Amino acid sequence: MSYLETTDPEIAAIIDKETNRQINGLELIASENVVSRAVLEASGSIMTNKYAEGYPGKRYYGGCEFHDMAENLARDRVCSLFGAEHANVQPHSGSQANMAVYFAVLKPGDKILSMNLSQGGHLSHGSPVNFSGIIYESHQYGVDLKTERMDYGSIAEMAKKIQPKIIVCGASAYPREIDFKAFADISEDVGAYCVADIAHIAGLCATGIHPSPVGHTTFTTSTTHKTLRGPRGGFILCDKEFAAPIDKAVFPGMQGGPLMHIISAKAVCFKEASTKEFVKYSEQVVKNSRILAETLAAHNVRLVSGGTDNHLCLLDLTNFGITGLEAEQALGNAGITVNKNTIPNETKSPFVTSGLRVGTPAVTSRGMKESEMKQIGEWIAAVIRDSKNTSLQESIREEVKSLASQYPLYPDLT
Ligand code: PLP
Repeated sequence: MSYLETTDPEIAAIIDKETNRQINGLELIASENVVSRAVLEASGSIMTNKYAEGYPGKRYYGGCEFHDMAENLARDRVCSLFGAEHANVQPHSGSQANMAVYFAVLKPGDKILSMNLSQGGHLSHGSPVNFSGIIYESHQYGVDLKTERMDYGSIAEMAKKIQPKIIVCGASAYPREIDFKAFADISEDVGAYCVADIAHIAGLCATGIHPSPVGHTTFTTSTTHKTLRGPRGGFILCDKEFAAPIDKAVFPGMQGGPLMHIISAKAVCFKEASTKEFVKYSEQVVKNSRILAETLAAHNVRLVSGGTDNHLCLLDLTNFGITGLEAEQALGNAGITVNKNTIPNETKSPFVTSGLRVGTPAVTSRGMKESEMKQIGEWIAAVIRDSKNTSLQESIREEVKSLASQYPLYPDLT
């Protein structure tokens, strides 16, 4: 019996169930991944026992010498991975990384210009239900409703009219390349700070598969747990001139003690992301996404913007007469986990939606390639075409289980 099974059999049983769900199913949620055993080990390590408020060499607690070493490694590795001058690796999440940047340079009521949540942006980019839209005056751009891509000319016009203090670029559900240099130029023209939130595409930016914003934008924020394949968390990159206000905004501005077990795991993730294997992995993520998109398009599924350049595709289900919610549930019954998502020109609520977002980071981490993606695309198309057919869902679930068993989550975990 494990320590957990002895102390808390209820939680042990729940974790067991979730382990089985992950082992036997296909995770196509674009913001999720499967971390390495090394990342998992560091995340569950005794580094969790320690308070380390402050920064390396300047802590508010004794006994931090090894925590200093871990945090310095994480900072140095992420700076070298992205070619940045300064990094703060303490934000507990992507939202908190964004919050710290706003705290560093904005005052309540200042203007933010960012992408609309319903067209691909993120809550922490000024949504009215989030702190970012409550504390600051938020203005939002969307995609061009014909091309479903960002229209840099119209964003530049909005920026001139609004005169925001910050322009945020980066998205949660945008399948195309983002021109960070164009955003930096637009920001410079209106005297705004430019924040690139690369939470989704960090792994692709680190490997040069997607152009990196570092060197163009004033700040770069990210999560570590999506394409970067690290523990759940966030970080901020900036030039040295902003190091002090950013560090002050994270601690003591916004957080107390850093999660040192997670910072240690971030350091492992940054090391892994700097390897040739990770470049190959990231290339495969994008190849897999393209194959999935092509397979679905061949079954008359409309892809928002006509395709994908990155790790995700956005499907418009309108032609199939089902909602994103119904498709999410039907695919869930078939062992394929996806999320409903709003699409440009959305007519339904965010709880229902007309779209689905599918992504390839997690299945690629399990070793799946083009032929598996084709098969998965066929299954998705079959389920959404006949979404009430529960016996079809059950039979696909068995096939999904058999495919998943050939690509174990962790080889030693059964
Ligand atoms: N920024 C973007 C673009 C995201 O997609 C997300 C999460 O999905 C976040 C920030 C926030 O990350 P977290 O959930 O860690 O707060």
